[in-house]
Amino acid sequence: MLNIQITPNPTLSPKPTGALGFGRIFTDHMFLMDYTDGIGWHDPRIVPYGPLTLDPSAQVFHYGQEAFEGMKAYKNASGEVYLFRPQMNARRSNLTNDRLCIPQIPEDDFVQAITTLVRLDADWVPSAPGTSLYIRPFIIATERFLGVAPSKTYLFCIIISPSEMYYTSTLSAVSIRVEDNYVRAVKGGVGFAKTGGNYAASLAGQKRANAEGCAQVLWLDGVERKYIEEVGSMNIFFKIKGKLVTPALNGSILPGITRDSVITLCKDWGYEVEERPISIDELVAHQQSGALEEVFGTGTAAVITPVGKLCYQGETLTINSGETGPLSKQLYDTLTAIQRGECEDPYGWRVNV
Ligand code: PMP
Repeated sequence: MLNIQITPNPTLSPKPTGALGFGRIFTDHMFLMDYTDGIGWHDPRIVPYGPLTLDPSAQVFHYGQEAFEGMKAYKNASGEVYLFRPQMNARRSNLTNDRLCIPQIPEDDFVQAITTLVRLDADWVPSAPGTSLYIRPFIIATERFLGVAPSKTYLFCIIISPSEMYYTSTLSAVSIRVEDNYVRAVKGGVGFAKTGGNYAASLAGQKRANAEGCAQVLWLDGVERKYIEEVGSMNIFFKIKGKLVTPALNGSILPGITRDSVITLCKDWGYEVEERPISIDELVAHQQSGALEEVFGTGTAAVITPVGKLCYQGETLTINSGETGPLSKQLYDTLTAIQRGECEDPYGWRVNV
């Protein structure tokens, strides 16, 4: 259990009144904790939100030794605030840490740090439908040393941001470009980890998708550019002749917590769910035969984002007439109701803050 020292912010900011957007507004406080080789994690504290001071030679700036997470706190009309499966984020964060040679943070300490910060800034958790408090824990290598080696010191920081959904606030379907040149990750690399380099590597593909009028990139595998992997910040699901198909977790895909939750819900609703390799050619064939009924992405920021169009090699494949499908809608409604404490929580996914 952490002994968190709290320094209240003497000048509280006014709460936002207009549109929140995503990830642009931050609350009054942030959490910090240091790591020093030989001592371990120490000095957990909450301080006023503000700039960090780092040495220009800090390793994170040069070799990218960094890990992050993304999760949300939700507030319902009764003012109750919930986290959604935070222990899963704590566990995944340590998977990332292991791969990046960053020291682990005990899962309970990770969750305690988040809970304490969210409780302190609970007034910032928005409650309008589609809004939530986005939580961004991250760890950076801070040692002053221009050598390629695991850092001997780290900083763990958590910032929180009242936000809307990432892609769409109305559950309208988005267009996604299938990228067949750039790749995001390969097996044996860091694709399964949540580390900044994966996202830096994705920007060129993202830029091209945007230039062609698409919101995001659908990545293919890094070896054959044949098998579907995931979207920029979402896992992807296909409803094909009543059955749900999603790429298997193969080491180059992020093991999404929303993905896991959607699989659980769909199986309970009687759907057959296949986690397996699915090629882009198979998908195109299903679209052409009319077997492809729905496509949607899943993610913390994206929640359930329906995909209405896939742009691949100059062609546009329209799915479900470009509309949000019934399963996407049902999943969105159920998941957000569980997250916001507006229905039963049969799986024990909610954590009251
Ligand atoms: N894939 C990538 C690359 C992501 O960044 C995210 C967002 N964390 C996801 C999938 C979805 O994961 P989750 O459901 O845990 O948010």
